[in-house]
Amino acid sequence: MNRLFALWFFACGSVSAANSLLIENVTLLSPEQPRPLGNRYVLIRDGRIAQVSATAITTPEGARRIDGTGKFLSPGITDAHVHVSQAIGLPFGSADPAIADMEKAFFAQQPRSYLYFGVTQVLDPSNMPEKVAEFAAQKQHPDIYRCGAAPVVDGYPLLFIDASIRHKVFNDYIFEPANAREHPLPAGANAAEHTPEAVVERIAASGALCVKVFIENGFGDRSDWPIMSTDTLRRVRVAAKKHGLLLAAHANALDMQRIAVAENVDILMHGIWNWNEVEGQPGIPPVIAEHLRTIRAKNIGYQATLRVVPGVTDLLDPSLLEDPVLPKVVPAGLLAWYHTEAAQWFKREVFGPNPDGAGMTARIRAANEHWETSQSGLRALRYLYELGQPMLLGSDTPSAPTWGNQPGYDTYKEMKLMAQAGIPLADIFAAGTINNAKQLGLDKDYGTVEKGKVANLLLLEANPLANIEAWTRIDTVILHGEPIARETLAAGAKQ
Ligand SMILES: [Zn+2]
Repeated sequence: MNRLFALWFFACGSVSAANSLLIENVTLLSPEQPRPLGNRYVLIRDGRIAQVSATAITTPEGARRIDGTGKFLSPGITDAHVHVSQAIGLPFGSADPAIADMEKAFFAQQPRSYLYFGVTQVLDPSNMPEKVAEFAAQKQHPDIYRCGAAPVVDGYPLLFIDASIRHKVFNDYIFEPANAREHPLPAGANAAEHTPEAVVERIAASGALCVKVFIENGFGDRSDWPIMSTDTLRRVRVAAKKHGLLLAAHANALDMQRIAVAENVDILMHGIWNWNEVEGQPGIPPVIAEHLRTIRAKNIGYQATLRVVPGVTDLLDPSLLEDPVLPKVVPAGLLAWYHTEAAQWFKREVFGPNPDGAGMTARIRAANEHWETSQSGLRALRYLYELGQPMLLGSDTPSAPTWGNQPGYDTYKEMKLMAQAGIPLADIFAAGTINNAKQLGLDKDYGTVEKGKVANLLLLEANPLANIEAWTRIDTVILHGEPIARETLAAGAKQ
């Protein structure tokens, strides 16, 4: 029994037939099957799948029953790249009590918004265990796993945090001797605690599934942020392997991804949308093709994170705030605040001080640049798919403080962008279920509708192998065997 399951189990009381659930006459969608299987019966006991049968199962005494006639039963979705520690769009470190209230409402709703869109497992590649614990303390929440973050002294993403506290917030930072002159060990720190080996050992002891490194020398025109040397990266990899942890790398530009790929990381946490010297070229330029073929040949996991760039561009289109889905996943107070002047702080940061007025030309140029960048990401994913790369699902929600990336909804939008890139629906389905489970080493528990697996399942009114929009037509989310009507998970729904 894993620890998360144990917590749920103790919260929900005694073992009895009341812990059994029988789903009858349903069409089964399980990614190891070549096609949907009609008229199936699925028995769930104590939070796990106990039996899957092509003939009727006698109802255990006291068991609850769901008539699955005309419906589809699928594994719950795993989004393998989310950040649960950020209250989306709100300014950091504000003392305003109104902001604090909105934050509170956001964190209470966040796990339910993931469930609302069928996301029953998430991976947060951050180093904020207390925020992960807060997420898991909510009454209804996806199962959550995390990576430990191992940035270098003053490197990304630390440099966005005030210098006086950055190395306390991310205390599993690595001291990089190659950068020592400009980025010395913080005062009072002990070098022996910040070697690759010491940091990875601490991350392993914290219960993380993976170590995340950041190969990022700057956004836009910047390229002067300190990064890890290849020697250090190699030592991180050896240490991660020793502790049975996956090595995940933030890298989204050609030159940065090459470093990660050369050192055989297990998984790239971003698609390649910054093409450096071949930026803006049509098709797949030869250097990009070669890079993608290397990823495939080395069997390195690749999360396309197609929503990162559009999530920022969405800020330029305020009509998107009228999207009728938003009230389902965003608390009303926060959604109203997104319309205010104060909420535009990040938009101004990215698109200039007057993004809606005199800066119109700049704004259109910026939107076009973003558009091209995200098209590069779509083409790269399609190319990898054609090479036989297993697709993975990771939305990077939220990748920035933008209301464009909302929990759960953004996972669905990521799947829609994969479809737009030309990935067949069956492969998108596999990405969010069995492929993610295998990549994270969690396939004993998740990824298919098979005996023994955790009963995190979705009952759908339409078939997502026929239409991507079926992912919005969830009737019931089954979480550790407990059926939850979808609409009760919406923001503002009576609990
Ligand atoms: Zn991320």
